Amino acid sequence: MEESFMQRNATCGQLRKEDEGKTVILNGWVHKNRNHGALHFINLRDRYGETQVVVEDDADKETQETASKLKMEYCVAVKGIVRKRPDNMINEDMETGEIEVKAEKIEILSECATLPFMIDDENSAREDLRLKYRFLDLRTTGMQKRIRLRHEIVKAIREFFYKTDFYEIETPTLVKSTPEGARDFLVPSRIYPGKFFALPQSPQLYKQILMVSGFDKYFQIARCYRDEDPRGDRQLEFTQLDIEMSFVKRDDVLLLIEDLFNYVFKNVVGVKIPAHFKRLTYQEAMDKYGTDKPDLRFDLLINDASQFASKSSFNAFTETLSAGGTVRYIVAPKTEGHEYTRKYLAELESAAKIYGAKGLAWMKVDEGKLSGGVSKYFAGLEEEVLSATGAKDGDVILLVAHENAKKCANSLAAVRNKLGADLHLIDENSFAFCWIIDFPLFEYNEDEGHWEAAHHMFSMPQVEYLDTLESDPGAVKGDLYDLVLNGYELASGSIRIHDIELQKRIFRICNFPDDVAQERFGFLLDAFKFGPPPHGGIAPGIDRLCMIIAKQQSIKEVIAFPKNTAALCPMDDCPSEVDQKQLDELGLAVVKKKD
Ligand code: ASP
Repeated sequence: MEESFMQRNATCGQLRKEDEGKTVILNGWVHKNRNHGALHFINLRDRYGETQVVVEDDADKETQETASKLKMEYCVAVKGIVRKRPDNMINEDMETGEIEVKAEKIEILSECATLPFMIDDENSAREDLRLKYRFLDLRTTGMQKRIRLRHEIVKAIREFFYKTDFYEIETPTLVKSTPEGARDFLVPSRIYPGKFFALPQSPQLYKQILMVSGFDKYFQIARCYRDEDPRGDRQLEFTQLDIEMSFVKRDDVLLLIEDLFNYVFKNVVGVKIPAHFKRLTYQEAMDKYGTDKPDLRFDLLINDASQFASKSSFNAFTETLSAGGTVRYIVAPKTEGHEYTRKYLAELESAAKIYGAKGLAWMKVDEGKLSGGVSKYFAGLEEEVLSATGAKDGDVILLVAHENAKKCANSLAAVRNKLGADLHLIDENSFAFCWIIDFPLFEYNEDEGHWEAAHHMFSMPQVEYLDTLESDPGAVKGDLYDLVLNGYELASGSIRIHDIELQKRIFRICNFPDDVAQERFGFLLDAFKFGPPPHGGIAPGIDRLCMIIAKQQSIKEVIAFPKNTAALCPMDDCPSEVDQKQLDELGLAVVKKKD
């Protein structure tokens, strides 16, 4: 027979003054427990809220005794009567603050060991402790709210798609390697020793094949796996909203995503975002913001300094320019309560150096004149510099010179982001979306000495470059688009190649000769022999979306069971060793690395 317990007939978040006089049973955890002699105040908590339970001196002996035994996070059942609190005792901070439950009977459902940290203060523990005891960490208000928010976001996404004619289709997670430019996780096959499945880096090839099969419009909330070093906004496994559509052009995809995010933000966040998002070309984004993930919540543009820098007597500038490099600047504005001290300028320089800058040159504007830093090298050029930059008294001109235009841009982008945060230029409640379009199709891999796809190899080059793909890969622009939100890359997508010969040309440029391409992607090439439709798609990252909406800095805060920064799970201790028997079955031997 089932063990019986006093089962709830109300939740801890539900009772109001209208419920006065009702006999209720609550189930939940002891969140707070205060004793005043024979009087016990117990705050009982469940997912829905918190209710104050009172045990008074007229309670029977057993109830009194049980109440004295209660400790934090005991799981209990309470039977009692709902009672209105006197006006002066109403707790405005609690949704149930108008009432309390006068206990008649308390049952301990389970006890709780000594807590490693306090449940009502999620900042009381360092991250690894939170992750080791994730089951407790997930009880904190912050995690409860964020997991609920994530549920609501995913629910809204599904609702949006269910109103359209998209099909939700699952694709396999044991796959042939699907290249997205990262390392694959491999899964050994027991039945075919020596052979491996890969976990999908994304469902890319499968969703394209679904288009060849005529499904027309597909979406999936898909798990993706990339064996990379984890960072704040990356995990080994993550979730993306994967979308593919047939017979579409770029704008069809962009409009769908704009509608989707309008729906999600209206219904989940309660915020009206622009019906259409700003579009920047990759080049514009790099020129003005130094990055293809610009945070458009604030202005502060980056500009070219070569006109005046080339006339200066500062060797680092003139030499970089004559070697074909770039010198760019940003004007840090005079800001009330903020001093551009040497210490602060050094902090800005450190931010720039992470992205390859060799240094961050500066000059202040003081009473209409340039002063400090590299200003002495600009003798006679003051007016030109001031009028070109528009810098005013109290502003600081910050400059980076680099032979590599991208490193120069990215370094100043880091400076820009730091200024945005430190000068409080960012409205933390705003959501600034923008599309980045016209990306380069290829990037040169210096280490391996060949071109590779900037996004992935299945993206369509823009038509005007079709004749020069091989002769000038660096100049080719692709039909690619990224969606950026508050400085984070939120989605990436493209119109795809559906021509087998063009696909093979791209493979060759990316160092996949025909035989290797056939071996790796033969199934896609085969499918392309059978009437592939023009198609395109995109994949917004769900973890990042939730992180941004929840105003967090790490996706771990919106994932129930994430790995830590060392790519481990401190809760279940994986990855871990396996039995010899399991290895034998797989025909695997572990070779210990020599230190
Ligand atoms: N598969 C791509 C990615 O994961 C997205 C896409 O092109 O649809 O980045």
